Amino acid sequence: MPERSESDSRKLLRRLRDSLALPGKGQDRLDRITHLIADSMGTEVCSIYLFRDEDTLELCATEGLKKEAVHQTRMKLGEGLVGRVARTASAVNTADAPSEKGFRYMPETGEEIFSSFLGVPVQRVGERLGVLVVQSKTARQFSEDEVYALEVVAMVVAEMTELGAFLGEEGGLKALHKQPRLFRGGTAQEGSAEGHVWLHEPRVVVTNPVADDPLTEIDRIREAVGQLRVSIDDLLSAAALDKDQRQVLEAYRMFANSRGWLKRMEEDIARGLSAEAAVEKEQSAARARLEQVEDAYLRERLNDLDDLSNRLLRILTGQGADTGAQMPEDPILIARNIGPAELLDYGKRLRGVVLEEGSVGSHAAIVARALAIPLVIHAERIVAEALNGDHILVDGDQGLVHLRPDEMVVRSFRDKMAMQAKAQERYASLRSLPAQSKCGTITRLNMNAGLMADLPSIESSGAEGVGLFRTELQFLIRNQMPKRDELARLYARVMDAAKGRAVAFRTLDIGSDKVLPYMKPQDEPNPAMGWRAIRVGLDKPGVLQMQAQALIRAAAGRPLTVMFPFITELSEFTEARDMVLRQVEREDRLGRPVPEALKIGAMLETPSLAYAPRAFFDLADFVSIGGNDLKQFFFAADRENERVRKRYDTLNTSFLRFLRLIAERCQTSDTPLSFCGEDAGRPVEALVFAALGIGALSMRPTSIGPVKALLRQVDLQEAREVILRSMAEGAVSVRPVLMDWLATRVE
Ligand code: PEP
Ligand code: MG
Repeated sequence: MPERSESDSRKLLRRLRDSLALPGKGQDRLDRITHLIADSMGTEVCSIYLFRDEDTLELCATEGLKKEAVHQTRMKLGEGLVGRVARTASAVNTADAPSEKGFRYMPETGEEIFSSFLGVPVQRVGERLGVLVVQSKTARQFSEDEVYALEVVAMVVAEMTELGAFLGEEGGLKALHKQPRLFRGGTAQEGSAEGHVWLHEPRVVVTNPVADDPLTEIDRIREAVGQLRVSIDDLLSAAALDKDQRQVLEAYRMFANSRGWLKRMEEDIARGLSAEAAVEKEQSAARARLEQVEDAYLRERLNDLDDLSNRLLRILTGQGADTGAQMPEDPILIARNIGPAELLDYGKRLRGVVLEEGSVGSHAAIVARALAIPLVIHAERIVAEALNGDHILVDGDQGLVHLRPDEMVVRSFRDKMAMQAKAQERYASLRSLPAQSKCGTITRLNMNAGLMADLPSIESSGAEGVGLFRTELQFLIRNQMPKRDELARLYARVMDAAKGRAVAFRTLDIGSDKVLPYMKPQDEPNPAMGWRAIRVGLDKPGVLQMQAQALIRAAAGRPLTVMFPFITELSEFTEARDMVLRQVEREDRLGRPVPEALKIGAMLETPSLAYAPRAFFDLADFVSIGGNDLKQFFFAADRENERVRKRYDTLNTSFLRFLRLIAERCQTSDTPLSFCGEDAGRPVEALVFAALGIGALSMRPTSIGPVKALLRQVDLQEAREVILRSMAEGAVSVRPVLMDWLATRVE
């Protein structure tokens, strides 16, 4: 076979484009292009396999294989050589296909006589569309040049597929972005929502994948890359950049200046692609590589390249991020990832959020939690699949997203939401009643908050107070350290909104996953066990002092409750406490009002504090168990690592024995004890904590109703006996026994 030249390639692309301009159905077009490709590549076979559903490929057109097999032959993702190309998103090139690992013989196609096989993925930025294959009888390896040529053709086929060129009633393809799709992700904030898609970054539409004049296209791409470089340099010279932003921009600059990137795109153009299609081809290849790499740093860099490609496409097409589209009334935000400030800008308008990346402890998750909107993370490929305005259902409890759902799914989803709404109504009737169990024990139910926007829930949820006010959000969403007066105003508004109910302000808990953009990040091997929370507060007391002053001024003579995160030993508590007391004295000296009552407590988030000297329990005005952290350190299981996070049941008897010990130590010294991790909002867990003697529970506002409803239906004394018996009998978790017991007690 003759070596292919660039002009052969261009000729083929033009013929493909022209053939599409001819009238005809989708299937006719597919047939025509397989014929053209086989002819131009000098192979006996050319076939196009396209995805029928998420993981099934179907032979949609062929030149050279048996026609009867068209729309009959199907394979799963990963099955056979075609399935392997689709799964790995990379070419398979072999002289002897039958001896290749994973080869699967499809007798209906008559392919046994063809020895050589070259398959390349048909893909568009994050979207797998199918596989393009050429085969020939003579056993030979295809040259690098031929592989490249076929990849360029596949790019054009991908753009054509995307533009709907192959749509048809029978045989032809069903329209893309029209089918129902289910995404299985992870849950980062529970709740359900129905709405319509709003893309954080709308996609760029490329309408001209093939270009006639490579020289013009090369000028265009060079000019666009030039503009891109200038815009990055401009951004970099802007004054107010934080370290992270600078790092990302430096990476952008590195890519934008890389010769390799521009060179590859110029080569694609020389083969006949338009400048836009060349950018997309390299972007798709980078995306495919991204999916194969595990290394977090490399993934970040490939993400940078992805962002950069989007910017370049916007320069080339003139399509801005603002497409003029109207945000739907019930928007569900879809993004690859999003920062906390951007998410807050959307605010309560959003019904839900779905991200391709993200993590349970990310800043976006913290904001979503504060806004009480469901958040699903790790919904792979949803950005490429969703279109603005698509109907969408988000099930934050299960981490499921139904995009363009069919009637049945919508009906059952709405039923579920209606049931939840009914339950909420039922809980509303309990609002002013105490969480009093049958035995008379009253458990105090508080809510967790972190934003001003949370405070109205204090009325509607029936919370008795705020058991945990996370103060870090105000620090995380800004580009610079907030000022004392600004914080004082905000804290005062929080106290006003609480109308005399106690609010436990937790001092700044940063480090670990929460990194302030304007503080020098620490390069720590294990940040969750590193320089975080009170450790930072004590080593660099300026911020803690400022925060304490802001709180005292906000209280303006009213009672004040402060607690410190991540206290590990007595001395940390005394030091932090003394520091707050000194600020009170200082304010007093300055003639400002001081709190009429001051309560200073500690969060118990590391096992060591449970064994602290008695003096700690005597000194602390209260202790609040930060169960999210405590559990991660108790079981040595990272709270953000999906693989291990759910491995250990909170009702594991080792953990419960430990909680009992804490409860007993607090009882001995008469120190009020509460629990404010996520588990406090789960009714069964809440019941166990209350039964073990934890007198107050703090949770998100929507959990108060369900927890109260359960606590009011049971006898906590009896529950305690059931739990202790199960522990004494050697159970690993008390859950099974407790659930059986509950089944006979609760309606
Ligand atoms: C906890 O660790 O349980 C807690 C309430 O604090 P955070 O989730 O903010 O670390
Ligand atoms: Mg914590």
